[in-house]
Amino acid sequence: MIRFLFAFFCLFGIAGPGNALQRDPVDYVNTLQGTNSDFTLTRGNTYPTVALPFAMHTWSAQTGENGSGWKYQYACDSIRGFQQAHQCSSWTNDYYVYSLMPVAGELRVDQYGRAAKFSHKAETGRPYLYSVDFDNGIRAEVAPVERGAHLRFRFPKGERAYVVLDGYTGMSGVAIDPSGRRITGYVSNGDIARRLGSKCWFVVEFDAPIRAFGTWDNTSGATVAGRLADDGKGKGAYVEFAPGATVSVKTASSYISAAQAEQNLASELGFHKHFEQTRDAARKIWNDHLSRILVEDDDEELIATFYSCFFRASIFSRKYYELDAAGNPYYRSPNDNEIHTGYYYTDTGFWDTFRAQFPLSCILHPTMQGRYMQAMLACKREYGWLPSWSFPNEAGSMIGNHAISLFADAWAKGIRTFDPAEALAAYYEEATEDGPSGPASGRKGWKEYFTLGYIPYPDMREATAKTLEYAYDDWCAYELARRTGNDYYRTIFGRQMYNYRNVFDPARGFMRGRLRNGSWVEPFDPTEWGGPFTEGCAWHYLWSVFHDPAGLSALLGGDEAFAAKMDSVFTISSDFKVGTYGSVIHEMAEMKMADMGQYAHGNQPIQHMVYLYNHAGRPWKAQQRAREVMTRLYSWSEDGYPGDEDQGQTSSWYVLSALGLYSVCPGTDQYVMGSPLFRRATVTMEDGRKFVIKAEGNSREAVYIDGATLNGEPLSRTYLTYDEIVAGGELCLQMSVRPNTGRGTRVQDRPYSVSLVADTE
Ligand code: CA
Repeated sequence: MIRFLFAFFCLFGIAGPGNALQRDPVDYVNTLQGTNSDFTLTRGNTYPTVALPFAMHTWSAQTGENGSGWKYQYACDSIRGFQQAHQCSSWTNDYYVYSLMPVAGELRVDQYGRAAKFSHKAETGRPYLYSVDFDNGIRAEVAPVERGAHLRFRFPKGERAYVVLDGYTGMSGVAIDPSGRRITGYVSNGDIARRLGSKCWFVVEFDAPIRAFGTWDNTSGATVAGRLADDGKGKGAYVEFAPGATVSVKTASSYISAAQAEQNLASELGFHKHFEQTRDAARKIWNDHLSRILVEDDDEELIATFYSCFFRASIFSRKYYELDAAGNPYYRSPNDNEIHTGYYYTDTGFWDTFRAQFPLSCILHPTMQGRYMQAMLACKREYGWLPSWSFPNEAGSMIGNHAISLFADAWAKGIRTFDPAEALAAYYEEATEDGPSGPASGRKGWKEYFTLGYIPYPDMREATAKTLEYAYDDWCAYELARRTGNDYYRTIFGRQMYNYRNVFDPARGFMRGRLRNGSWVEPFDPTEWGGPFTEGCAWHYLWSVFHDPAGLSALLGGDEAFAAKMDSVFTISSDFKVGTYGSVIHEMAEMKMADMGQYAHGNQPIQHMVYLYNHAGRPWKAQQRAREVMTRLYSWSEDGYPGDEDQGQTSSWYVLSALGLYSVCPGTDQYVMGSPLFRRATVTMEDGRKFVIKAEGNSREAVYIDGATLNGEPLSRTYLTYDEIVAGGELCLQMSVRPNTGRGTRVQDRPYSVSLVADTE
């Protein structure tokens, strides 16, 4: 009877009192979320990005020195420029940066002299607008377009007014056209420029008469008044306007050519006469984008955190293509520096983002995801290898051959814009060759992996982490081959996908480093970081069996032992040993700060772990822990993340989790259930269909799922399929303060594990 009444309420949409949003979704976003970071401790390593969704360029205020990865730090009190930015993380520098800075009174061009003091009280960080009132009386505003920005500088009355353009850390060229009120030029900085000698061409257009001008050199600080053009290392320009002027500045840039930069300016900003038009257009684009997930609740704090994270989940990967005069996409490849037709995307590390960023995109942006598949194969043709860590060319960072995860995941979800045989052949090369320098392309240790069944340590660094991630990648290839009837690759990779078993030590109950002769690396301490692991320890890597949690459970001794091991993660001390890192790295400090035992949500390896309670037949524990992580480790503030945000991954974890879902095993079509954060969430698909997640009686205490229906039918499973979500419909959950230990516990209720289904094919 209770179940019947519950279904009745769901059917007629009695969702509880007063849940409509008090503001538009975009105005909940705080782009300063996660900016309070430094080398030793990260609360996100983000910067106050002004950009359109997945746009080619973003813009940011710059507090750090030219070339510093910490381009904006909340603790700083002065800004030295507003720059075109592409950075994925503070741990990398940027590429193709140039900056603009308003200067009042005396002309100061260099990055120290021109820096202006500000306070956060006089600062606004929204996706469509960054604005700041400097202590010196200048107001600066930035609004985004896809390949440029519209800025506005208001100078204090009566004071001389300058705008300084800084050519940043590499070669640059400037040409001033005083009567045209323009500066054109290029910058050539970042790893891509060093490697290819490539350029980013820019156009800067002012709406006020230029009274005086000159060039300058940021290596010497010298200025040359009246000079129209210069070219060389760190060359820049300055222009002067009438005292007390308000100057609007339109700027756009191109990786293809100076002419294309003009085209980008004309097509994206040409019809915007006033700054407000650009700002308001960007606001509408973002509000429409963020309204794709409309949440209803009365917890304003959680709503602000949700939309701030959703914003961060909507920046990476970036478009790397431009549109020709006819509107067709083309790009200058970061791989071979040649012009190609089609779509291209970059600025993401799959080690981070295969986990949740792309599975979220599959739901919200399947068209873009389909284009992304083609771009990965284009990378293979241009570079020789599938992408792994793109910034914008292959950066060779981290481990794994995770491009196959994206292919398998897209195919499983019906995004079939690519030839699966081509993807599998590319992956086969990846898995059976050493690859070029750097650990990410190819598979160093592949012979040992195929013959011994694991990568030996210390012969190869990070050997056990690699064995685990390669075994998952091989399952992805197996699964893509299985789904596409490709018996050749299915046989090859089906043999390797259980290799995770070869680095499990049953005596100690952990994945461990293993010597070439088969014995375990001694001494062993599960809290010791590095060595055979990557940015983590044995407590974090035990769970990296995405495709076979049931197999992992069997290794550990069954459901009870599996769940008890997960419990221990939270109950043991968060003490750690620095291991081969030699000193404390920020991920260790963040685990300690989180104070959840060995649960290190500030880094990727363990981020899926709480959802594995579903695979152990204890879904209520997944529900409780997922909610605890959401409410304890995230906020909308400058301290908003428990570690590096990492190209949308840590945000996408939150967005999916807030819907009560998570992508434990990309490559399946499943989203595993947790505990939704809001009383009601409506996801609107690209084609307009709506999927509603109702959580009756939800609160910060009522985090447990007591009962569930999907489209009116009782649901005992602890996962949904992609098709169930994108078809539209309604998931209705009855929330409770007490766990329901009888729901979702049967083996047939549990999410995917390959060892449960492989013998039934
Ligand atoms: Ca990380």
